[in-house]
Amino acid sequence: EAFASLPLLPELLTNLASLEYRAMTPIQAESLPLMLQGRDVIAQGQTGSGKTAAFGLGLLSRLDVTRFHVQALVLCPTRELADQVASEIRKLARTLPNVKVLSLCGGAPLGPQLNSLAHGAHVIVGTPGRVEEHLRKGALVLDGLDTLVLDEADRMLDMGFQATLEAIVACTPGSRQTLLFSATYSEGIRPVAERLMTDPAHVEI
Ligand code: AMP
Repeated sequence: EAFASLPLLPELLTNLASLEYRAMTPIQAESLPLMLQGRDVIAQGQTGSGKTAAFGLGLLSRLDVTRFHVQALVLCPTRELADQVASEIRKLARTLPNVKVLSLCGGAPLGPQLNSLAHGAHVIVGTPGRVEEHLRKGALVLDGLDTLVLDEADRMLDMGFQATLEAIVACTPGSRQTLLFSATYSEGIRPVAERLMTDPAHVEI
C-alpha cells in the first residue's frame, strides 16, 4: 500500500517519494493509520521492519513547528540506537522547515546538551538515564509533550530502566499519545504498558 493513501502532510509525502520509500512496510501499514487517528499503539516489530519511519511519521504529523517547546520524546535503550533513530527522523523531517531534533544520550558530555536544550527543540531522542537527569536539573520540560515513543521497550526493561521510565512519564501530560515498540510483548511489559497507555491498539507483524 502507498503512503499517499494516508492523510500525511504533502511535504512528508514528497519527501518519502524522493527517499524512494514507495510502499509501506507491514508495520507501517498497520500502525500509521492508528497513530494518525491519535490512538495509543503497541507494535511488535524488529529492527529492519521500518518501525522507525512508522513512529517518526506519526510524531512528525502531530508537530507544530511554530511552537518551540518539546513536543515529541523517543526513548531508546542505547546511544547507538538513539543516534540511528535521530538520523532517520531528521531525514524524514528534511522537507518540514526548521524542525529541531536533539539527541540526549548518556556517555556524551552534559554541557553541549544543556546548551542545545536552552536553544529549544521540537523532538528529543535519548536514553532514559540521561533524559531523567535533564528533567531533574530542570533543563528539559515535558509539560507540552504530545507524543511519547518507547522504542525497544523490552530491552529497556531488561536493562533495568523501569523506574526511570516511570519517572520520565510522570513529567509528561496525561493527554499525550504513547507509542510502544518492542520485539516481544512479554509478561514483563504488559503491566508497564497498561499503566502508561490508554486503550492501546495492538499491532503484530
Ligand atoms: P528500521 O526497521 O526502522 O530500522 O528501518 C530499516 C530500514 O528501512 C531503514 O534504513 C529505513 O530507512 C528503511 N525504510 C523504512 N521504511 C521504508 C519504506 N517504506 N520503504 C523503503 N525503505 C524503508
